[in-house]
Amino acid sequence: MRKLIETFWTPVACDVCGAEETGLSTLGTRIGRIIQKHHDYTWRHEDVQCTQCGFVFNRLRPTAEFLRDYYTDCWPIASTSIDIVPDFDVAVRLELLHRWLKPKARVYEIGDKLGEFHTALLKAGYDVAGDDVMAVDTERAEWLDGLFRRGCVAVPPTAMKQAFDAVLAYFVIEHLANPRDWLLSMRGLLTQDGVLVIEVPHLVRHPKEALMHEHFLYLTPESLTALVQEAGYEVVEIRETGASRAFGFSLVARRVEMSPPIALAPLQEQAAELQAAYQRGRALLNHAQDNLATSADLIIQGVDASDTPVRVCFFGANQTASEIATLIGPQLKQKAIKILPYDNSDVKTGTHLEGFEISVKKPDPSEFHPSVLHICVICSRGWTQAIASQIRQFGLPRFILVDGAAGELLPKH
Ligand SMILES: [Zn+2]
Repeated sequence: MRKLIETFWTPVACDVCGAEETGLSTLGTRIGRIIQKHHDYTWRHEDVQCTQCGFVFNRLRPTAEFLRDYYTDCWPIASTSIDIVPDFDVAVRLELLHRWLKPKARVYEIGDKLGEFHTALLKAGYDVAGDDVMAVDTERAEWLDGLFRRGCVAVPPTAMKQAFDAVLAYFVIEHLANPRDWLLSMRGLLTQDGVLVIEVPHLVRHPKEALMHEHFLYLTPESLTALVQEAGYEVVEIRETGASRAFGFSLVARRVEMSPPIALAPLQEQAAELQAAYQRGRALLNHAQDNLATSADLIIQGVDASDTPVRVCFFGANQTASEIATLIGPQLKQKAIKILPYDNSDVKTGTHLEGFEISVKKPDPSEFHPSVLHICVICSRGWTQAIASQIRQFGLPRFILVDGAAGELLPKH
């Protein structure tokens, strides 16, 4: 059995306007068991809408220790058996930066998991805070590298004040338990007219992605504008579409000395639209859960229709795989059919997932026997097509491809 990590969840006031509990109306509650590398974590949501400003958010916030443990227990994305490309558009990010930054500007990107964009920034000629800083000053190093490792609490050391022409935060703010403090601390890092470049999921256009369990803030350009104004910035550009990920929008804000008046009216005017978007997002998330049950049905149908021995092979050892395997487990056990978890990621090899009796292996074509029907269930967020090609190249005479998250069969060719 895997260990389930729980924590205390503290209700907070509206992140945008500060309205207290009585001003918040509950839209829905959620609770989920989320699988990380070593442990599972309980995430709780009490999703509310502020009756004063219209903002929609999860008003429950866990401890910094919980967030630190959760984010340090994530799966690094690294593989030697499949090519992994960035899941964001590098050129789109650079184009926006070129509009607002001088050549060789000093930039700091926070929350850069793989350092992919860091490399692109260096190539584009920017002076990127990074390894050189980390090598000489451990206090700075820990802070630079550690937003998520420190539980999303950012308090920059004074030595770094007013050092940067730009702070870049791609899909970070929605994860922060105390976004206002973070925005204020970033302001302290910027030069006099330095800019903050933010991308976040768009609640109205992509509600399912916006409501992802790790997010506390379900943002739109209107609410993000109010949030950054509150922290001493002036919004200079918003792009509703064309962010570096399809579900996002981008906002550029400049540090100002005198805060502009906070514009709550545009946010208040979209209150009904935000509530509808939230409900749509919840319906889509429920639909995603239904898809897992559909995948389980497809697997059982494949098993029942086969006149040869069957193996069920999962590609992608993750939450989706674990949930589908748990659904089909009892029926397949009765029929003595093996369920095998495979993953291309180096770090997942040898780990154990709920729903599987065997630990995770790398896919090895020599293990796939020609006389056996292989029901291959692909469970991947971004690499379904790449994994499907990988399986097709095994040259198996009998196989079925299932897209686990979509609840659909994939073509064999
Ligand atoms: Zn509010």
